[in-house]
Amino acid sequence: MVLYDKLLAGYNTQLDHSGINGKRLASRLHELSKIGAGENGGVTRIGYSPEEKHAKEIVSKWMTEAGLEVTTDGAGNVFGRLKGKSEGPIVMSGSHLDTVPSGGNFDGVLGVLAALEVAEAWKETGYIPPVSYEVAIFSDEEGSRFNAGITGSDAFMGNLSNEVLDTYIDAEGKSFDEVIHEYGSSREEFLQPASVEKDMQFFAEVHIEQGEVLEKFDRPVGIVNGIAGPAWLEVTFEGKAGHAGNTPMGSRKDPVIAAGIFVSEIESLPSKVSETAVATVGKLNVHPNGVNVIAQKVELIVDIRDINERTRDQLVELICQKAESVAEQRGLQAKWNLNTKIKPLPIKRDLQERLADVVNKLGITPTFIPSGAGHDAMILGERIPAAMIFARSKEGISHNPKEWTSLDDCVMAVHVLKQLLEKVMEEK
Ligand SMILES: [Zn+2]
Repeated sequence: MVLYDKLLAGYNTQLDHSGINGKRLASRLHELSKIGAGENGGVTRIGYSPEEKHAKEIVSKWMTEAGLEVTTDGAGNVFGRLKGKSEGPIVMSGSHLDTVPSGGNFDGVLGVLAALEVAEAWKETGYIPPVSYEVAIFSDEEGSRFNAGITGSDAFMGNLSNEVLDTYIDAEGKSFDEVIHEYGSSREEFLQPASVEKDMQFFAEVHIEQGEVLEKFDRPVGIVNGIAGPAWLEVTFEGKAGHAGNTPMGSRKDPVIAAGIFVSEIESLPSKVSETAVATVGKLNVHPNGVNVIAQKVELIVDIRDINERTRDQLVELICQKAESVAEQRGLQAKWNLNTKIKPLPIKRDLQERLADVVNKLGITPTFIPSGAGHDAMILGERIPAAMIFARSKEGISHNPKEWTSLDDCVMAVHVLKQLLEKVMEEK
């Protein structure tokens, strides 16, 4: 069955009201699923690739047909403007159309199409927004092109420098300049932050949850209460290598045991700082990694996240203390180094409350969830009030051809976005 039919099977057409149209949304999700489609049902639209560009062109055409004025900035970000009743700070909504290799049909795409569906709904009902509204497509959000992150929105906000761009090399060995020239722009244009020309009061993004909380609570949509910023703590336990057969148990300094104790004790630490904090060890290197060798050292990385910088940093501190106490207890050395530290973005309380009002009115119990992953809203939110709406993901699967959000849930997210935008513009 093609995506369009799959989406419409079982769709609750009562959700078609206030100008929002499930069939239109389904047909657009379907059209975009063909761009970069692979044999396994996944789509590959790497940032600044011909596929990403093609997807942007298709959506730009829909924007024009909906009466939006389309512009592009030097980073390839696309904006479709619906003129409002008056000048004054604009509101914006959008997301991205690039994917990871063999990604799904909803991550990013839903946020762009939801923002466009709101403009379609307004056009259909004759609603003219009090201020201008822009639908945005940000380039290379997944960061797959240069193995970096969130390129388009970072450029939009002026967060990238020549020094950073000099380090960008793609998988084929092309430099940033080669890639951006092929795309049809230049470094000079790329480095002109388009955000300075836009007087913005608000940004909202619809995105699939990429987690299982909404499914667990049986809610179609959720309210993001913050976007977690990761801190990566590299920890090394250094012991004493020895022969597995000839070293008595009592005289060992085995760093694998220290690492084992440390990893298992980390599990209980996040709840000591907040309800939303998490910590994960997903990568360990054992040296020399031999079957019959007591290891010399173990290097591991702890990924530590929370939506609050203060509690996230408290957790980093607790984990460092734990490394020290485990090393002491086992009579060996521990060293650590915090090599990545990205600022988390808490979503403003009043925006969360407005979203809760909207969600309640639609008959849904508000569910507040932190976002563990980074998004365009996190970058814009550093300087512009920003909100995020999550749509339920089946089994929390994302970055995978199996990614799935029902059309009912997609459309419900559009209703939430539309009402939120109206509320923000009218109550201002
Ligand atoms: Zn995304």
